[in-house]
Amino acid sequence: MFEIEGHLECRHGHLFIGGADCVEIAEEFGTPLYVTHEQRIRDNLRTIKKAFPNAELLYAVKANGNLAIMRIIAQEGAGADVFSSGELYMALLAGFPKDKILFNGNSKSDEDLRRAVESGVMVSVDSVMELESLSTIAGDREVRIAFRVNPDVSPQTHPKIATGLRTSKFGIPSEQIVNAYERAVELPGVVPVGIHFHIGSQILSVSPFAEALEKVLGIAKELLNMGIKLEFVDMGSGLGIPYEKDKKAPTPQELADAVLPVFEEWCKENGVYPKLVLEPGRYVVGDSTVLLTRVNSVKGKFVAVDAGFNLLIRPVMYDAYHHVVVANKADVPPDKTYMIVGPICESGDILAKDRRLPKIEKGDVIAVLDAGAYGFAMSSQYNGQPRCAEILVQNGRAELIRRRETFSDLIHTQTIPERLL
Ligand SMILES: *Cc1c(COP(=O)(O)O)cnc(C)c1O
Repeated sequence: MFEIEGHLECRHGHLFIGGADCVEIAEEFGTPLYVTHEQRIRDNLRTIKKAFPNAELLYAVKANGNLAIMRIIAQEGAGADVFSSGELYMALLAGFPKDKILFNGNSKSDEDLRRAVESGVMVSVDSVMELESLSTIAGDREVRIAFRVNPDVSPQTHPKIATGLRTSKFGIPSEQIVNAYERAVELPGVVPVGIHFHIGSQILSVSPFAEALEKVLGIAKELLNMGIKLEFVDMGSGLGIPYEKDKKAPTPQELADAVLPVFEEWCKENGVYPKLVLEPGRYVVGDSTVLLTRVNSVKGKFVAVDAGFNLLIRPVMYDAYHHVVVANKADVPPDKTYMIVGPICESGDILAKDRRLPKIEKGDVIAVLDAGAYGFAMSSQYNGQPRCAEILVQNGRAELIRRRETFSDLIHTQTIPERLL
């Protein structure tokens, strides 16, 4: 079985996470269920901090917006990258300090901008039109801003999560960025303090990061020549994780080895020392969490479980691989090739294809690994499925951090017009 010491282990035939028995947790709290190991999140953040000791980390809230999980991340000293007013609301509640929150987004409404101004957070501006609106809304207040640059770099990842190509909707093209800063200097209420890019997600090679950073530092140099001295260079994130256990993903240290020399040389050459900012999402929470799902029935190669793309859409949306372990048969050798399918009324509702697993029976508990990022966060109530509960484990102890939804949660925002009654 795949193991990470102190995090995922097999003990007397059962899968353990953070010292807690997945089979017992499934019994106690019911399935389906997301189970997160607190220490793994802390360790992942510390691994990034060790590789980038002088960098500021802004956690990308969209990866996992659970309040308890964000609280842990805030305790580790990270700030937050938010992409909507809702994420801003949650990040502030979780305790991220406002001066460490960056409000991102390619389509911010005036209401979003108003909230950003009133909350006193920084804004990553995605167009000159947005800049004009922000300046008007700021009035006599001052908002610290960065511009999001589209560096036109291919991250070599799934097309749906490539965000730094010229053809993507994000950011301002490199050749227009200097004009944007000039306009920002002219306008009241907006103070350009940073430059920002983010080229995609689940990137498995470090060279696109270095390539994009070099391009953006070239722009920062032009700005410097114009007298605009930036406080930070935000290189976003997108660092991939090894979902496939026989493959490797670059470590934060490998990323640091590829980008820090480029950054440090630029600083020395120009005699200015802006802060480097990173916005990790997936790396922080991805491998901290398993999705536990129980087998309802077995029909030939099909193993029908109680979680589908309503709870974990990554396999369907991005053709993503998630490793699966039979939690109550973690030391039993494989016997057959199975397809793990969910309860949703679509043939595409497949969690895992062609997996060699021990003989599966009704009631077995299947753990879908690496489900902490873009898992619960992208869940839905499709097919009348209430969303599941979330559990936090630390030192072998399991606590509820989100209750399971009830049937009334399916309908409580709806009304039937009186004339239909
Ligand atoms: C999604 C996103 C991130 C995080 O990406 P990961 O691949 O989860 O590390 C960071 N910055 C921005 C602007 C994003 O949209």
